[in-house]
Amino acid sequence: MTVLNKLTSQEAIELENKYGAHNYHPLPVVLSRGEGVYVWDVEENKYYDFLSAYSAVNQGHCHPKIVDAMVHQAKTLTLTSRAFYNDVLGKYEKFATELFGFDKLLPMNTGAEAVETALKLSRKWAYEVKGIDENKAEIIVCENNFHGRTTTIISFSNDPVARKNFGPYTKGFIKIEYDNLQALQEALESSNNIAAFLVEPIQGEAGVYVPSEGYLAAVKKMCAAHNVLFIADEVQTGIARTGKMLAVDHENVKPDVLILGKALSGGAYPVSAVLANDNIMNVIKPGNHGSTFGGNPIAAAVAIAALEVIADEKLADNAEFLGKIFRSELAAFAETNDLVLSVRGKGLLNAVLINDTEDSSTAWDICMKLRDNGLLAKPTHGNIIRFAPPLVMNEEQLRDCIAIIKKTISEF
Ligand SMILES: *Cc1c(COP(=O)(O)O)cnc(C)c1O
Repeated sequence: MTVLNKLTSQEAIELENKYGAHNYHPLPVVLSRGEGVYVWDVEENKYYDFLSAYSAVNQGHCHPKIVDAMVHQAKTLTLTSRAFYNDVLGKYEKFATELFGFDKLLPMNTGAEAVETALKLSRKWAYEVKGIDENKAEIIVCENNFHGRTTTIISFSNDPVARKNFGPYTKGFIKIEYDNLQALQEALESSNNIAAFLVEPIQGEAGVYVPSEGYLAAVKKMCAAHNVLFIADEVQTGIARTGKMLAVDHENVKPDVLILGKALSGGAYPVSAVLANDNIMNVIKPGNHGSTFGGNPIAAAVAIAALEVIADEKLADNAEFLGKIFRSELAAFAETNDLVLSVRGKGLLNAVLINDTEDSSTAWDICMKLRDNGLLAKPTHGNIIRFAPPLVMNEEQLRDCIAIIKKTISEF
């Protein structure tokens, strides 16, 4: 089989271009191996990974503990479907609910599926517990949100590229400005049919927008006052990325519904989850919702290992510590360099703003040069570069990376 021969980068790119749908525009680098904070291309060039698969690989590439758990479970039992019980799911559900402080967990696979689950859950809660008339429930969302790619989720996106020509759209969503408590207050008061407020604690895809201090705590209070569920989409911000286990932990608030994905598996396997307490989760009855792969034994074993690694290696503290260094170094650099406007973020979820128009190719060109200098990052929304390395990075590696970033941009 020709596909088993070792490909050059060029050949691999040509294959994807010819036989794959063009639903992504990847940076031209073909990776074939990863370990910790590093990845290697097919020509054996080594890179620092500064994207971490959009924060799925927080625990580092091919973490041995996670891979061992996966391989062991893969050799034992892979899938039963939920038509039968398996002997790993319950252990994982106990572990994760105790860790995050909720009564129950509903297992899914991808982030978008978990968001869909949270939307369905909050609508059903609204009808059966809150007492909203059937089909009247509304969910408040934020402008410039990113929650995934299903038809319903893109229905409340305002990214034209994600939306156009995928209509007709799902109804029942009210969009307000992010980080605007006044707008939330008005939306909450605008109707008695509000089921939930769905929000990212930091808007990741939009370009790493960190809300004002106190925003999430106020959101929690306002939602509670209106008997509206506060749903936190922590698919990208959760699992230690921002310097705490969850981004909401920075404000010591607990959402009513928590959505996790990405690093819940350390990037080894698609694992997502929705967590809530019994008064909410118990509206879901047998047959109401499900997924063939959701809660499979490999996913359960992998997720336990991935969460243990976060605690064992104190990755939240490390993200907090390294993030401060990264932002202070890049902020100082921005003072001396015209091309860098500013840096923002929390923990190791950061973005550098490039001083050029949104439709310019400058950020992309910088990412190409970063690649040439051994560091992989990707622009988001034109002139913003997201920097999110695996959380297993050490200070020496981070300082090495900062030097690469400064040198690359200085040469521009
Ligand atoms: C990535 C992401 C999703 C979607 O996850 P998929 O696994 O790609 O479906 C949802 N919400 C947020 C905040 C994300 O960053």
